[in-house]
Amino acid sequence: MQKKEPIIGIDLGTTNSCAAYVEDSGNVKLIPYKGGDYTIPSIFAIDDKGNELIGYEAKRQWQLNPRNTIYGAKRLVGRGFKSDIVDSMKKVVAYQMRPGKKNEVVLDVGKKEFSLQEISAKLLNKIRDVASNYLKTPIKRAVVTVPAYFNDRQRQSVKDAGKLIDLEVVRIINEPTAAALAYGVGKGLNEKVVIYDLGGGTFDVSIIEIRDRVFEVKATGGDIFLGGIDFDNAIIHHVLKDFASKTGIDLATDPVAMQRIKDLAERTKIDLSAREEVPFNIPFITMTAQGQPLNIEMKFTRKILEMLTSHLIDKSLQIVARVLVDAGLSTKEVDEVMLVGGQTRMPIVQDRLTKFFGKPPSKGVHPDEAVAIGAALYAHSLQDDTNLRIQLLDVIPMAIGLEKAGGMFHTVFPRNAPIPNAKQLLATTSMDNQTELAMRIYQGDHEMVAQNDLLGEFTFSGIRADKRGMVQVEITFDVSVEGILTMRARDPATGREMRTTVRVTQS
Ligand code: AMP
Repeated sequence: MQKKEPIIGIDLGTTNSCAAYVEDSGNVKLIPYKGGDYTIPSIFAIDDKGNELIGYEAKRQWQLNPRNTIYGAKRLVGRGFKSDIVDSMKKVVAYQMRPGKKNEVVLDVGKKEFSLQEISAKLLNKIRDVASNYLKTPIKRAVVTVPAYFNDRQRQSVKDAGKLIDLEVVRIINEPTAAALAYGVGKGLNEKVVIYDLGGGTFDVSIIEIRDRVFEVKATGGDIFLGGIDFDNAIIHHVLKDFASKTGIDLATDPVAMQRIKDLAERTKIDLSAREEVPFNIPFITMTAQGQPLNIEMKFTRKILEMLTSHLIDKSLQIVARVLVDAGLSTKEVDEVMLVGGQTRMPIVQDRLTKFFGKPPSKGVHPDEAVAIGAALYAHSLQDDTNLRIQLLDVIPMAIGLEKAGGMFHTVFPRNAPIPNAKQLLATTSMDNQTELAMRIYQGDHEMVAQNDLLGEFTFSGIRADKRGMVQVEITFDVSVEGILTMRARDPATGREMRTTVRVTQS
């Protein structure tokens, strides 16, 4: 039998990425990186000599070269420059962002400019290279995971990033669904599980019913702007405030000082998961106007960290509560709560979940590795011709619809609609001899389109000329198994397909 080309599973994370594959024996293995680590920092940089650095090499020089070091870029994928997300990122990152021609985000790194897709492509390429070297075979195909809360455009952007480096993203699957696969494949389960995924940049929660090899997502939700970085920022703000009150100096305007504070803030947060108290000392952080060196000398306790961040955990639990309502389940009907994402190692996160569900979360999967493992299991199953294929039944995370008069949102697919899915809509011409019909499509859960994400402006052309109101256009909305929308239109009277063009500008 001819050996099949391997398809690897890739968890393209906000902070760290990880890849896995299934061996011929059927065992799933994480792909090790240098030094035996299984994760690669999702960081891209260009050093002073113009060399591109990715992963640990990029992280190592981060403090010295913060302006040319891109991290957390996943939070910006598929976002317009003029958006709240970009505004809030600008306050915390040292790298430069500016608007491109279509209001997309352009990053200036080491005298070159990069799109977010190119940054994703660089990271994917590094992961692919590590995997190709390790498996001693070129890797051309992968299953890549995305936050369940990613919209159509963000998903499309990951597929396009793959195209840039000739890596076929055979399937995009949702991170919580992948984690459920890591937990449940091959165990013959019949359970309802909640996947609580608090990673570096995003929060996702999904309720998934597992019936042996069928994984059916009942409801999903999340916040693209809630993750470990926000916990770090809570520490950073506290430190800045304390320092300013003692010295009158605002360190926020000093990128090198900020980078040192940021690094120690994350380390402090992680240490406080294992200890009750840790010092927070940074020598020579800045100087007084008289040239006197100043240090940061503070102490953090677990209690202080919990106080500074309790609103973030509250926010995640509010989303969990809403998702339970969407799934029509009570906390008691949930069989297992699985933790995914590094930030769930914080003890208070686990305590709050225990109180919320009335039982402690399961330790059944490794929070950093489950997503890549699940992606690899699914990749393997795609190559399986027998009836052992895994069946994934997923949903769209936010409603998809169009703009009505007055800027109102008309829902075509409600949030949590199962995918794949198709809906049809009949439109009528409103002018005599109208030959074109344009429609703006949005994704989001607000009543007003302005608050949702614009997916694109679709134009259907070649409409039969006639009096207004006399011609109908039948528009079909198709959402693929990956949550990606395509549209087509036809004349129901003649059956003729119309030409569809999409213009995507970043809202
Ligand atoms: P992920 O995107 O899943 O790799 O999650 C990374 C996030 O988890 C980062 O914000 C880390 O700072 C955070 N993290 C990792 N380990 C711990 C820990 N022991 N306690 C608290 N947060 C952690």
